[in-house]
Amino acid sequence: MDRRAGTTAAVKTKIGPVILLGAPGAGKGTQAKLIMQRYGIPQISTGDILRDNVARGTELGKKAKAFMDKGELVPDQLVCDMVADRLRQPDCAQGFILDGFPRTVAQAEWLDGLLKDEFFEKRCAVPPVVVNFQVGYNQLLRRLTGRRTCPTCGRIYNVYSQPPRVADTCDVDGSKLVTRKDDSEEVIAERLKAYERQTLPLIDYYRRRARLREVNGDQVPDKVTAEAFRAIEIEAVAGRPSPVPKSRA
Ligand code: AMP
Repeated sequence: MDRRAGTTAAVKTKIGPVILLGAPGAGKGTQAKLIMQRYGIPQISTGDILRDNVARGTELGKKAKAFMDKGELVPDQLVCDMVADRLRQPDCAQGFILDGFPRTVAQAEWLDGLLKDEFFEKRCAVPPVVVNFQVGYNQLLRRLTGRRTCPTCGRIYNVYSQPPRVADTCDVDGSKLVTRKDDSEEVIAERLKAYERQTLPLIDYYRRRARLREVNGDQVPDKVTAEAFRAIEIEAVAGRPSPVPKSRA
């Protein structure tokens, strides 16, 4: 069955913010693209925006590069300002998928404030659904070391589990696939440490606020996607009140 066939217009208009949590390599980027296609809301990957700034040599890119090269997190203030600029764009008004943000409790608190002040009240009257992709450590390593990305269309492959039809070549547009600079073994180890130290506490943060939905990310990609869609739709359709017009709120 075409999974998209089940997506009604009502679901689409109520999706609101979707936050994807999980360690580096948990599949957030791959799933974000499928969620984007299904619900018509944009994927906001802080890693992609930062890499784009590094490639263009912007002020932000220059500041972020040293942290990214070492596998460390970029300081909260830089990332939060960048996210605020992106979320204020009109395509985010009905919802958006945050992929790789928040990554610290301070970012999560900042985001709650922004959503409350700018989105719940004015634009997007639904609370965020937070989906956590759980994947075992060995599987994460395999995914990160095997990851290849198309520099043109952004499609993600894995040499072990989802190889392209022709080695090192994108199936969609024929571009030569690249390995991310921070997918080298030393940097991967640092990124996983940063995740455990700084990002893992977010699981508790969102659990305590009854917003967390767990998805087993260790299954075949289609099953992970089906679980993620179910989690989002349960929240978006059943778990949330209909938006109240401002005049009656
Ligand atoms: P990603 O593509 O999500 O794995 O991110 C790549 C790198 O960008 C990370 O290792 C961090 O250096 C930086 N980064 C991405 N998102 C954030 C964030 N929310 N906070 C701080 N640093 C980030």
